[in-house]
Order: sequence, then structure tokens, then C-alpha cells
Amino acid sequence: MSLFDKFQPIAEVREELDRLGVTPFGAVTERLLSATEGIVSGHRVILAGTNNYLGLTFDPECVEAARTAAATEGTGTTGSRLANGTYAAHAALERELAEFFGCRSAIVFSTGYLATMGMSSTLAAPGDVILLDADSHASIYDGCRLSGAELVRFRHNDAADLEKRLRRLRGRGANVLIIVEGIYSMLGDRAPLAAIAALKREYGAYLLVDEAHSMGMLGERGRGMVEETGIESDVDFIVGTFSKSLGSTGGFCVSQRPELELVRFATRAYIFTASPSPSVIASTRVALRIVRDRPELRQQLWDNAQRLYDGLKAQGFRVGPDASPVVAATVDDRAQAIGFWNQLMHRGVYVNLVMPPATPTNSCLLRCSVSAAHTTEQIDTILGAYAALKLSDDDL
Ligand code: PMP
Repeated sequence: MSLFDKFQPIAEVREELDRLGVTPFGAVTERLLSATEGIVSGHRVILAGTNNYLGLTFDPECVEAARTAAATEGTGTTGSRLANGTYAAHAALERELAEFFGCRSAIVFSTGYLATMGMSSTLAAPGDVILLDADSHASIYDGCRLSGAELVRFRHNDAADLEKRLRRLRGRGANVLIIVEGIYSMLGDRAPLAAIAALKREYGAYLLVDEAHSMGMLGERGRGMVEETGIESDVDFIVGTFSKSLGSTGGFCVSQRPELELVRFATRAYIFTASPSPSVIASTRVALRIVRDRPELRQQLWDNAQRLYDGLKAQGFRVGPDASPVVAATVDDRAQAIGFWNQLMHRGVYVNLVMPPATPTNSCLLRCSVSAAHTTEQIDTILGAYAALKLSDDDL
């Protein structure tokens, strides 16, 4: 028995990839040419798997703000928000996020993972019950486990199953926290948020929504799917990330509840880690303003998403139920999925290869995330590369 025996399944996948000579999980971006093009592991590619939904990573104003902040405030804060790591800009971003969402307050975290993990692990405790969608992100699962609360999963996007479980809990007198996402990260499918909010109201539960893949992309003001669905007053907590539509790193939680300010002082994922660097906060503040002021970026993103989704569907790929900024094709056979990923790289298109257990089913995914910065020609090149995929990998 060795400490490392448990890593055997990982070793087997790595050996298989080595045998095939592909490195989907070790791909190195050697040079970035723009928000949508780069040199990855020696291939000049269109970046079609970056979550850079609004294409803001190279926005001149964001870059300039980051540059100025690094020059004037330094490269890092070197400390926790509760010690030396709260600068005026962190507090300003929290005010701006609260205002953007029309909420009372906001907490900024160092990553989206820490925001989701920190909030779910702190809001619920032993004696409470968390009802979570079975396809929830790893950060949600990790937080829920850490909370010590009783964990009950309901079937993905199934409001009837959620209700069945809420009914069973009735009378127990426990606090119930429901956790769902807006758009789900792997297939781009949407939660039935209106039905979930109605159940939350009926059963007197609390509701936390992770808008990582919908903030900036949905809603008239870009607040996300909660705004689009018109259930803002039913949602107790919205969490999200800066690493997708806002083009940096970091995460947040916003809430109407005054108690969020207490949660701040109890959240270990907030307290025991260094706060985001000044450059990160500076570019995020500008990006948030752009989300507010440039709705045309959202329109461009959705035009691109619709084009890619329709095109892949017409080619016969098994994509998600609706067009979305995440467009993922399901491939059942693992070797075939690896071969397809490699062929796409050779044809100048970089997508995410996702394998179980990171996928919702036992299948693999060739996952694209669309950007407002993609040109129509780039979307068509991506479609062309998918259309040319060969079923055998003889010609790799
Ligand atoms: N929640 C969801 C739904 C996500 O998809 C992700 C990132 N993939 C996160 C949280 C974590 O965000 P970050 O990568 O910014 O830490």
C-alpha cells in the first residue's frame, strides 16, 4: 500500500494521453496574439475555450488601469483583507458591485472558487440542510462538505425533484439553503430559476445562485440570469467570478441582506488568504463599468454563440439544449474525444477537452466558450474545423 495508490486512475489517463502523444491538460499558451488568438503548444490557434466571454482581457482601458495600479500600489497586497490587504480600491469595487447588482453589500474574494466555496461553507453549518443541484461546480461541493451541514442533492435542473426533497424536510425545523448555478459551466444549460425561486418562497428556504457563467452575459443590465428571470428579490446571495466576463481573477458575493457583513468576518476563505492584487482590482473595476456601459458586447456574444451552436447542431453534434456562451459537444468514446481534440488543435482551434469526473455524465466534452471578441470568420473557422473531424484518428 502506498500513499500514491489512489492516484492510479489519473496515472492511467496520463499514460493513455502520452501514448497518443497529446497533452490536453498540459497545453501551454506560449504567446497570446489577442483575446482570441495565440500560440498554444506550438500551434497557432483560435482560442475557443477561454471563458473570456466579453473579450476584455486585452481591452486597452482595462490593461492601462492594471498597469497604473501596479506602478502606484505595487504588484501585490501581501496580506489578508482583515489585516493589511484592504486598499481603497477593494472597498470601492465592493461598493461598485453592490450598486451594479442593486444590492446592499458585496464581498470581494481572491478567486471565484474561494467565493463559492467560502460562502457555501460558511452560510450553512451542522444542523442546517443544503439542497444542491447534482451538477454543481466542484467549488460548491467542496464548500458544502466543509460546512458540516447535511447535504441533499436534487436531480440536475429538476424543480419537481427539488420540491419532493423540500416537502420531506418540512417540519424538521432546519434552515434550508438551496444552491444552484445560472448557466451551467459544462453544457451551457440554464437552471429553471423561476420555478426554483417560487419553491424557495413557498418553503421558506434561502437561495444562493452562482452566476459565474451568466454575469455580464444575461439580463438587460448584465447582472445575469437572476436579473433576466426577474427573481432578484427572491435571491438571498449571488456569487460570481471575475475570471470570465470581467477578464481577470477574483470572485464576489452580493446580497440584499445586512448579515452579509457578518458573514465576511466568519468566512475562512476570505480571512486566511491574501487579497487580490491592485492590478487585478483595477482592471476588474473598469471591466465592470464596461459591462454596464457597453451592452452591445452582450449582443455580439449572443450572435456568436447562436452561430456556433446552430452550426454544430446542424453538423450533427450533440450540443446542449439551448444556444449559450458555452457550446459543448458530447463525445461518448474517450479515445475519440482525445483524437478530436488533437485534430482541432492541428486545424488551428483550441477548445477544452473535459473528461469524467469533471463532466455531468460519463461522456467526454469538446467544450467551446464563445467570446464577443470572436469575429464571424473565426466562428466559421471553428465550425469548419469541427466539420472536418474524422471518425478515426489515423490521420493525426
Ligand atoms: N463557479 C463556477 C460555476 C465555475 O465554473 C467556476 C470556474 N470554472 C468557479 C465557480 C470558480 O471560478 P474561478 O475559476 O474564477 O476561481
